[in-house]
Amino acid sequence: MLDPITDSIYFIISRSFDSNITYIKSGNHEILVDAGTGLYSSSLDKDLHTKGSSLEMITDVVLTHCHIDHIGGIIPLLERGSPRLYLHEAEAVPINNGDYSQTLGATFGAELPPFKIDVMLKEGDLIDFGDIRLRVFHTPGHSTGSIVMEVEDSGILFTGDTLFPGGSFGRVDFPTGSPEKLVASLKRISEMEFEIGIPGHMNVMRYNARKSALTSYQMAKNWFNVG
Ligand SMILES: [Zn+2]
Ligand SMILES: [Zn+2]
Repeated sequence: MLDPITDSIYFIISRSFDSNITYIKSGNHEILVDAGTGLYSSSLDKDLHTKGSSLEMITDVVLTHCHIDHIGGIIPLLERGSPRLYLHEAEAVPINNGDYSQTLGATFGAELPPFKIDVMLKEGDLIDFGDIRLRVFHTPGHSTGSIVMEVEDSGILFTGDTLFPGGSFGRVDFPTGSPEKLVASLKRISEMEFEIGIPGHMNVMRYNARKSALTSYQMAKNWFNVG
């Protein structure tokens, strides 16, 4: 089910172990932010059809980080079409060198066929899709290449698995996780200007998401006893 955030940004709540997925229509671009595990790609295709889109029409997939629950869904997309893939360089470089360990695919019994990341993201990058432009902030902690992205001039922030609603935050016990970096990233997010937060799991923070970020920062700081 597509849940409209604006008239061009639609949120799809996760199925089972999937990440959330967001579909964005901007001019000739049909964009997904995160792609789920890929296990539910036929449901995603049906959802996209309600907006006149489809798996094969997706032109760009921006990944908040490389974990299998976010990246697995690029495989059915690459089978049906040829989207450009975007990922922070800290995780894209190993993948493009054939090292898929950071995706955790093997850990979860879902090894990925080979693929390459087309666009390596870094702090401060602006991904220009025309009407919609995404500003990249490197926010490691949940994983080394985790990012959050601001939709320019909209008050919307994609928070990946770094910030979740209700004082929650991403786990740090996977290989490149770091409690210190997560707390620093949450602090940084809590100081950013945004109203709506779209996380990698759980529900959209629809109002005063920045306050939610402050709560998560304080909870994480106490939980990990850092800062
Ligand atoms: Zn996730
Ligand atoms: Zn993750």
